[in-house]
Amino acid sequence: MTAPRDYDAIADMQRDNETLRARVRELERDLEKRGSRCERCKGTARLLYGNTSTWRHSMGGASITEGICEACWGTGRSDITGPDLRAIDAHEAQLEREVSERWLAWRLGASFSSVRPHLATIAARIKHKRADDFWLQRCTETVRSVLEHLSKEPEKGSGT
Ligand SMILES: [Zn+2]
Repeated sequence: MTAPRDYDAIADMQRDNETLRARVRELERDLEKRGSRCERCKGTARLLYGNTSTWRHSMGGASITEGICEACWGTGRSDITGPDLRAIDAHEAQLEREVSERWLAWRLGASFSSVRPHLATIAARIKHKRADDFWLQRCTETVRSVLEHLSKEPEKGSGT
C-alpha cells in the first residue's frame, strides 16, 4: 500500500523531472544559437595532441598533451574560428628574423659596398663546413644564408 508521503515523494520527483526537461530544452536552444559545433574537437575547443608541441606540429616531448583545437582555434564552432595561433606564431617568427637580420646588417656595416664582398667571402668559406652537432650545423647554415643575403646589393626601398 502506498503511503501519503510516497505520493508526495512521487510528486516531488515529477516536478524535478519537469524542471530538468525544461533545463535540457533551454540548453539545446542555447547550443542551436551558438551554431554548429566543430567536428574536430566535437565542440570542446580542446584536442589531445601526440606530443608537447601541440598545434605547432614541431619537435616536442613524447607525451600526449592537451591544447587548443587547431580547427576552430578555441571556439568549439565550425562557423566561427578564433585567432589562428599558427599564423600568429609564423608572423612573429618572420618579424624576429627581419629584426635580427637588420641588426646584423647594421653591426656588420652591410650597407657599405666595401663590406659586402667580405660577407660573401665568409659565406662561401663556411658553405661546406660540416659540424657533428645538429644545432651547430643548423646555426652555421643560417649564418651563411644571412651573410649571402646581406652581401647582395639591396633593392631600392627594401631598407637593407
Ligand atoms: Zn575545434
